[in-house]
Amino acid sequence: MAQQKNLSQNNDLLERFTASFAGLRSHSNLPNGTTPFIWAIAVLLIVIFAAFYLNVRSNNEAILRTNLMKSTAKVADNIEMRLRASSASMARLIERLELDGNTAAVLNKFSRELLNSNPEITLIRLIEPSGKGIESMVNPRLGKRELRQYNYLDYPQVVRDAIADAFLSNRVSISSFWFTPGDSTSPSVVIVYPFTLEDKSYALLSRISLNKLLEESTPSSLRADYEFSLLHGTEEIAGRAAYNPPDDYTIPSYVRAADPLPPSIQLYGCNIVESPLIFASPLIYWLGALMLFLLISLFFLNKEMRKNQADLDRANRELELRRSIEDSISSAIVITDLENKIVYTNPAAQVITGYSEDELQGKTPPYPFWADTSVLPATLLGDPSKLDPAAFPYRFDLLVRRKDDEQLNVLLLATPFYSSYNEHIGWIYMMRDNTIESQSMNLTNDAIASYQRLLNSVMSCISVVSHKPTGTMLGIHNDHYTEQLGNTADGHLAISRACKIPFNPQGSREAEVWVDSLERWFSITEARVTLPGGSHVMLQSAQDITQRKINEKELEDQTNRMENSSRLITLGEMASTITHEINQPLTAITAYANTAIEVIGNAPEVNRGQVLEIYKKIANQAGRIDKIIKNIRAFAKRRPTTLENVPLANVINDTQELGKLIEKKYAGIRIVYELPKVLPNVLCDPVQIMQILMNLIRNAAEAILEAGCTDRTIAVIAKVGANEVELQVADHGPGISDTMKASLFTPFFSTKKNGLGLGLSTCQTIAESHNTRLRVRDNEGGGTVFVFDLKICS
Ligand code: ADP
Repeated sequence: MAQQKNLSQNNDLLERFTASFAGLRSHSNLPNGTTPFIWAIAVLLIVIFAAFYLNVRSNNEAILRTNLMKSTAKVADNIEMRLRASSASMARLIERLELDGNTAAVLNKFSRELLNSNPEITLIRLIEPSGKGIESMVNPRLGKRELRQYNYLDYPQVVRDAIADAFLSNRVSISSFWFTPGDSTSPSVVIVYPFTLEDKSYALLSRISLNKLLEESTPSSLRADYEFSLLHGTEEIAGRAAYNPPDDYTIPSYVRAADPLPPSIQLYGCNIVESPLIFASPLIYWLGALMLFLLISLFFLNKEMRKNQADLDRANRELELRRSIEDSISSAIVITDLENKIVYTNPAAQVITGYSEDELQGKTPPYPFWADTSVLPATLLGDPSKLDPAAFPYRFDLLVRRKDDEQLNVLLLATPFYSSYNEHIGWIYMMRDNTIESQSMNLTNDAIASYQRLLNSVMSCISVVSHKPTGTMLGIHNDHYTEQLGNTADGHLAISRACKIPFNPQGSREAEVWVDSLERWFSITEARVTLPGGSHVMLQSAQDITQRKINEKELEDQTNRMENSSRLITLGEMASTITHEINQPLTAITAYANTAIEVIGNAPEVNRGQVLEIYKKIANQAGRIDKIIKNIRAFAKRRPTTLENVPLANVINDTQELGKLIEKKYAGIRIVYELPKVLPNVLCDPVQIMQILMNLIRNAAEAILEAGCTDRTIAVIAKVGANEVELQVADHGPGISDTMKASLFTPFFSTKKNGLGLGLSTCQTIAESHNTRLRVRDNEGGGTVFVFDLKICS
């Protein structure tokens, strides 16, 4: 079952190959610029919509303007109608007056009716040519205040002119507008109707309130949308159309003549709808909705297309990748359908067979590159259902005849080709050129073998180890390593751990190390190597030098023995000096002892103080002898040196402690320490190093005091180098002459009265056992510096 799954996974991969040969190879990208195209359409739509909107808007404006003109005309017509009607009524009243003659009564009777039906007429007056009023009738609808306004009898010039004109021409005359003086709310015109009664000239005068006239002439249906007023020039004299139109109001107002009112009075119409309905037609809303829909659709279309483009780009990249994989596969891949007709070959197939893709495409067995048709994989041509999937891939050794007739041995692997629906749809053949592979294999093997021979010829244990999370792995190693240290990395690691010397900045180190676990000495070279992939390995070359070390030890022992004997010889030679040294205190002791005997034996009474003084002197001299003997013993029998990795700071600390005692003992001496902040670990015998330092400090103190120098400072200085620390003891004492320097380190060289001359000689021996030498040089500005080095340890 798992096998089947694996197969289908394989086949999915292979199906990609089929996809690629089925035509995707020639597939190209969608034209670039799809998005700009869609955006262009969107912009075009917006432009069309804007144009349409502007068109509708201007159409609406035209409609509104026409409506305004019509409405204003209607009001003008009404004004004309009313004035004509009132003129007709006045004419009838005149007829009555002419007929009935009883002017006051007639006037009263008929004018009342007239005023009732013509509310804009505020006053009717019968006048003589002189202008003098005979009878007046005031519109009964007027309030008290209005009455006062309109019943004003003292006519202004414009009215008098109209009266004169009417009597002169015997025609109806209309005055220009006027106010009752002091009252601008009473704009009026006066119409003068002349007539003759019983050969006498009269006229009827009607005063018309322009406000009332305008009000009566404005149909209520227009009031919601328009305001009208009467202008005299630019001045508004009646109505309230000059009411400020809203800011966004773009439709102009309209002015026209209001016949038969005098031409100086004009009718002014103005639209007062705050937001005039621009989109009078619902079409624009439908169109807007459509536009929005189209824009949203375009947006989603664009998104979809971008996604498709991205998918396509990805597909193309995959295809490129697949192609490069196909191209990089060194095995030939040939895919056939169930009839074994070749449907796909990869570039390697063309290289191995020498036939081009076109030459192989569509070919059925025997294929042109099969040299030997006898091994034709007949199994595959049989019933696929009988095939055992567990047996895949089928392997054949096949002889291929290239187009150029050259013959090749290839390994042919055959597997069924399943579709993603797990349908068996063909066969996949993979062919590998055995010849090339075996040749290159041989070459590689040869190279490895000669490399190994080279390594084996080296007499050191060569090994390479790599540190993995799972542990340290032994890599390349030579036979010598296997013989000496086995087949694991343990030997390498044991040697490496025994080495206390740090790696230098180049990542290598060299040392001679004693390996406890192996009980052997090795001379080793180790290097950290970075491989091309970035991983690190450790290369070690370890040569067993145990025998050499044994020889060296023997030699050293021999030398020591010789040294010892030479020391003893020297001691022998110096016996007389020693005898002299010891004799001196001994003689003194004898003398003191005799004195004591005398003092105690002869005196009747023992003087305690005197006797105590004598014994103190004896003890002093005995102490001196003890010191001489100790020094000689230390010289004759030296303690073996044990080198260890110790912090130099510890050694210095202990020295400082003992230094304090010296400061106490040698009054006036001051010891200063010039040390870096961080002191490394050093390879040394700490007790012996302290011994050197104390000896040098003591010598310096004695020399300073002896010479009576003023600068009584002794400096202990540590200078840390790359591999070593230089230790110095410097003073500004009397200094040492060159001749003295030559014999300074020889045993028993001393300039002191009671000196044994073994101090510096012992220090030098210790220094040598630390692989260094104690040197002496003059101090700058006078005095002496003693110097020696210690190896730094990691
Ligand atoms: P000792 O101290 O017993 O004389 P050493 O071997 O320690 O033996 O010293 C040898 C001689 O070196 C000293 O006697 C002294 O003359 C000389 N010497 C040592 N250190 C100094 C120093 N710092 N300044 C001058 N002379 C010194």
